[in-house]
Amino acid sequence: MPEFALTLVLADLFDVYDDKPDEAARIWIRSLQLPETFISSSRELKYLHSLVGRTYGMHLIRRAFDARVGTDESNQFIKALEDVCVSNEGMGDTIPDYSALPLQNLILAVWNKSVGKHEEAAAVLRPFMQTATSGVYEDSGLGAPIVNFVIARILIAMGDEARGVALMRTYSTPGVINTLCYGRCGLLPDRWIGGYSSSTCLTDLCCDCGEVLKQRKRLPINVCGPEHSLVSVPNREDLPQGKAYFNDELVPITQIYSDIRQIW
Ligand SMILES: [Zn+2]
Ligand SMILES: [Zn+2]
Repeated sequence: MPEFALTLVLADLFDVYDDKPDEAARIWIRSLQLPETFISSSRELKYLHSLVGRTYGMHLIRRAFDARVGTDESNQFIKALEDVCVSNEGMGDTIPDYSALPLQNLILAVWNKSVGKHEEAAAVLRPFMQTATSGVYEDSGLGAPIVNFVIARILIAMGDEARGVALMRTYSTPGVINTLCYGRCGLLPDRWIGGYSSSTCLTDLCCDCGEVLKQRKRLPINVCGPEHSLVSVPNREDLPQGKAYFNDELVPITQIYSDIRQIW
């Protein structure tokens, strides 16, 4: 397990700091191909495996956008993403285990939606959104807040900024440190402290790193980009448990969930 985690750190170093995306991709692809019997032997391994799908998916969608939609180069990145997607069957099943979610499939669906392939996108996103907002993840410990975060990112990428921002601000996993800022600036808070979410590459950034991109500059590492759309997600200190501010009104998170089920 520690060896696997270290290997993924190595892929991250290649991609984010060292401008060697092909070396990183080789590690991610091999990790995604590991046998099911090995992956399902521990919860940590399943979590790391799911993380690889997310990280590689986010890497590919960023590069596909940066290579310009419709170009051969961009299409090749999406082809690589399609290659690592697994069956969509079960996306709407009751899977109270975050680690069982093929996040790369959701990322491909977000891409499809943004390039106008609405039906392909809906076939994956609709069952996921229905299941994820129905409370099945609530008993699974770490799962619930993470799934909430996945829902929020999808909403922001789909243009439903009001609900996405409302859910994002509720993000909190007390006692668990989460790397909130993908700008690798060192921020490791356990709750949302305000910043930006890229609706282009699904990356979250703190206020300082987001400001760099807003000034049309690149970050010193390979993350997000100055041409991406950044949605501001301000902090809200005064959020009671289980509530969210939606259009400046305090509502139960379950209300937002049931609205999402109606809409989707
Ligand atoms: Zn930062
Ligand atoms: Zn971005």
